[in-house]
Amino acid sequence: MDNPVRVRFAPSPTGGLHIGGVRTALYNYLLAKQTGGQFIIRIEDTDQSRFVQGAEQYIYEALSWLGIEADESPQKGGEWGPYTQSERKEIYQKYAKQLLRNGHAYYAFDTTEELEAMRDRLVAAKSKNPSYNAISRMQMKNSLTLPEDDVAARLASGDPYVIRLKVPHKQQVRFNDLVRGWVMVHSSAIDDKVLMKSDGMPTYHLANIVDDHMMKITHVIRGEEWLPSAPLHILLYQCLGWKTPQFAHLPLILRPDGNGKLSKRVADDLGFPIFPLNWTDDQGNQSEGYKEKGYLPEALVNFLAFLGWNPGDNQELFSMEALIETFSVARIGKSGAKFDIEKAKWFNQQYLRAKPNETLLSYLKAGLEANQIDYSRYTEAQLLQICELMKERATFPNDLWKDAQFLFSAPTHYDEKVIHKKWNERVVDVLKGFQKSVEELDNYTGEKAKATLHELIEQEGLKLGQLMPALRVTLTGVGAGPDLGSIMDILGKEEVINRLDKAFEVISIPVK
Ligand code: GLU
Repeated sequence: MDNPVRVRFAPSPTGGLHIGGVRTALYNYLLAKQTGGQFIIRIEDTDQSRFVQGAEQYIYEALSWLGIEADESPQKGGEWGPYTQSERKEIYQKYAKQLLRNGHAYYAFDTTEELEAMRDRLVAAKSKNPSYNAISRMQMKNSLTLPEDDVAARLASGDPYVIRLKVPHKQQVRFNDLVRGWVMVHSSAIDDKVLMKSDGMPTYHLANIVDDHMMKITHVIRGEEWLPSAPLHILLYQCLGWKTPQFAHLPLILRPDGNGKLSKRVADDLGFPIFPLNWTDDQGNQSEGYKEKGYLPEALVNFLAFLGWNPGDNQELFSMEALIETFSVARIGKSGAKFDIEKAKWFNQQYLRAKPNETLLSYLKAGLEANQIDYSRYTEAQLLQICELMKERATFPNDLWKDAQFLFSAPTHYDEKVIHKKWNERVVDVLKGFQKSVEELDNYTGEKAKATLHELIEQEGLKLGQLMPALRVTLTGVGAGPDLGSIMDILGKEEVINRLDKAFEVISIPVK
């Protein structure tokens, strides 16, 4: 794809931006940047009954957090604006009139009851396509069936009407989707969709086509749920006499077990976010976002890029720049992409680990401060050491302080399972010996303390697994965690001695 492309992300502001929508935006963005083209955000708000306050702002904030910036948008403006459909009413009206003039569209005056009756009739007659179409339209109240003066009188008196597309009766509609290959549909399967509603607003179909044409969109990249609408869109382009853009329908995002589409309900049940940022719906229900959960934007971008695309080799870590370079529509898969939250966590770990220690330090301090944990006993260098130690096991920035709490205050509780298994007179004796050796150590370091421990273990003919967990539990309260030598280094001589004292005092030897 050598020519610069113009692509658009065209969300409807009807709620929080679903993570699947973010992937659509990302793929569009990658393609635009790769070719030196433009990425456009267009707000499709023609269905005013579904308008949700705050949803548009949310879209901008979420994309901006992820580094997906538009070249043209309602906020930014641009040569082909306005970029909000409710501000383009006259444009759609003009093209609806053109379609009427050229015989590609017609006025329809049917009431809701009449439409329902038609449907019932067709269903009872076992029609294959029980809809307003090339056959059924001839039994309805529209400008194809009513006398011309009747139509004129109805329009003049302000009767409510819609404008429908006059779908050709027998025509093969085909287009070459960049992901799915040739898609072919017979026009008898397409109904005479409403293009202009009775409130004078266009439907999605008309507005979308008019805008894609006027905004010079070269590629329409969107979710597979729009594939069924694509043949209708192709017809609309033909009726308007316009060149069609290229289409690429992205594979569905499936629930983790592959059984159906990922929905908010599924994500809620499985306990992971569906929205990039916190979102409160109009009933006041709050959903935690990926950002607030502790996902890093670059990790989420990398994860989403792989939901339906792969580079064809084993490389998994891609920065935005690397994605821009490597991404290709040809490598987008056809089959649904399973949403694996464990993989998202894995990406987060990788990016967290790769952060400079100074950044980790800022996360650590923020967590400690927000939770009123006093860290004044440590120097900056020691805090950096803590980050270095904790980052290997951390998935989220908050894990840095959460998992390190034992470094800031002595344990008040000791894992009972470890005590039951490992705490006995012999072990306590050896630990007392260890405590004494530590006291005598000159120029104490964690490494030296650890070496002392190993010597003792050897002298006493004990196994590592008999003593280590017991020592660990006295220092940290639990049986597993980061390297003990480093822990003892950070805690310092005095604290190690004190914690051992406390453990000898409060842990009683289990009776077996
Ligand atoms: N407004 C549609 C949506 O909400 C856009 C579909 C398209 O990209 O054509 O997803």
